[in-house]
Amino acid sequence: MSIHLKGIATSRGIAFARVFLMKNPEIDIPLDPAEDASQEQKRLEQAVEISGRELEEIKTYTKKSLGEDKAEIFSAHLLVLRDPEWLGQVQEKIEHEKMKAERALHEVTNGFVAIFENMGNEYMRERAADIRDISKRVLSHLLGVEFSNPALITEEVIVIAEDLTPSDTAQLNREFVKGFTTDIGGRTSHSAIMARSLEIPAVVGTTNVTTSVENGMLAIVDGNEGIVIVDPTKEEIEQYELKQKAQLESEQQLQQIVNEPTVTSDGKHVELAANIGSPADLDHVLSNGAEGVGLYRTEFLYMGREQLPSEEEQFEAYKIVLEQMDDKPVIIRTLDIGGDKELPYLELPEELNPFLGVRAIRLCFKHEEIFRTQLRALLRASVYGNLRVMFPMIATINEFKQAKQILLEEKEKLLTKGIEVSETLEIGMMVEIPAAAVMAKQFAEEVDFFSIGTNDLIQYTMAADRMNETVSYLYQPYSPAILSLIEHVITCAHEQGKWVGMCGEMAGEATALPLLLGLGLDEFSMSASSILPARDQMLQLESTICEAHARKALTLSGSDAVVQYMKSL
Ligand code: PEP
Ligand code: MG
Repeated sequence: MSIHLKGIATSRGIAFARVFLMKNPEIDIPLDPAEDASQEQKRLEQAVEISGRELEEIKTYTKKSLGEDKAEIFSAHLLVLRDPEWLGQVQEKIEHEKMKAERALHEVTNGFVAIFENMGNEYMRERAADIRDISKRVLSHLLGVEFSNPALITEEVIVIAEDLTPSDTAQLNREFVKGFTTDIGGRTSHSAIMARSLEIPAVVGTTNVTTSVENGMLAIVDGNEGIVIVDPTKEEIEQYELKQKAQLESEQQLQQIVNEPTVTSDGKHVELAANIGSPADLDHVLSNGAEGVGLYRTEFLYMGREQLPSEEEQFEAYKIVLEQMDDKPVIIRTLDIGGDKELPYLELPEELNPFLGVRAIRLCFKHEEIFRTQLRALLRASVYGNLRVMFPMIATINEFKQAKQILLEEKEKLLTKGIEVSETLEIGMMVEIPAAAVMAKQFAEEVDFFSIGTNDLIQYTMAADRMNETVSYLYQPYSPAILSLIEHVITCAHEQGKWVGMCGEMAGEATALPLLLGLGLDEFSMSASSILPARDQMLQLESTICEAHARKALTLSGSDAVVQYMKSL
């Protein structure tokens, strides 16, 4: 009998493959004394040797897939593994205190971790995590338990984990990882967003997938419906093969409109743009016929590394994106760190509510040099294409004015040095905090454009954490509360002659498109894989009819009523 699990459909597509379970092994430390110390020394030696070989392999693989600098992390791990100070203390405990190798290793590691964790320097504190990691690896060999590592995957698999961090997701190799599914997470968690840009079918928030599978079982991930089937029957395999075939056919069909403009049946043009996380995503953006980039999440340039990217490195990344998009508009968002996106190398204090804390523009004001460096890189790159800069998490007019002022100061400095900057650069902001949406009239006098970030706007309006699947029932894009805020933002902007886009995940949802078109949205930015289905849908919509539907939706009693109404049309 196959096992069916329901989760949140996160990234389109259907995948079949064997399960690769990323699960930390349970580790039980034996407390009974060692019978034979020399035997324990030998076990320790062997476990260290196997761990060393594994780390060498991971290092070689990482060098190939992610480059020299990422591979250096594992050189550091190898140094720790072979550190005579650490290893010597473990050997001593085995010899003199008659401990089994596991216990000796555990105790010595705890001592080292405590010392490193109490050091003032952030870098040294991070080394504590390295020591813990390495010790876990050696322990797993001593105890004979398996240790998962996604970097070692070299065959087609479905990755199954309790959770994946954005940097875990960034390291998944598309060639081998055919799909993934997790116990926790929501549709707008950043690992979900990255899965969409990698175009890996994914289902998150299944609650218990990790306890329902074993390594090597066959699994199907249906990222369209949010279903995971473990150990499928012959009939289910056949059924999904047909679905996969139908999907491929419809994708081929959609290629016919790849170069068409997005115009409704009554002649209204809207812009369909793509969300990206790095220049590497551009191939998909162009092959899916995007009319621009509506959101470049620059924070991914800062993540998964050991130090801040230099101005030059950033300039190169922004320039590539602008050049490759030719004269199409590219909205680059300034750094949005905080929430579920961390930078371990910055000394950021722990926060009880990181999504409500020093995130995005707030962090940029606290670390102004980081912000100014990014702005210089953006301004220098602006002459290579059609750049629009946008600030995230703006709550007050003063924040917008301050961010714009800093940008203009950097522009002046560059111009004084004779460095060219685009004259047509637009400066806008994300509307993702309810206060900004409510005050859209006042904001519209200051900005060149708005881009509505529904991922955050919904979580802050409904007070429902976008990462928490237990409250995902409150995460309601179709609530008239959200639709009213969107309507208000668009009306206020249009009154001032400003345009409005949306770069939250809602902009790519089939049910939302007629509503947003009806509310007057000018630009829709989504994952590249959603663009052609969205264009196909738009070509068949009539904007005046959608306006009437949107007006009706605003008067309904709740999200369910709106969804039901839209589906009944
Ligand atoms: C949003 O909040 O809708 C958004 C697009 O930004 P992010 O998902 O990166 O927070
Ligand atoms: Mg946001």
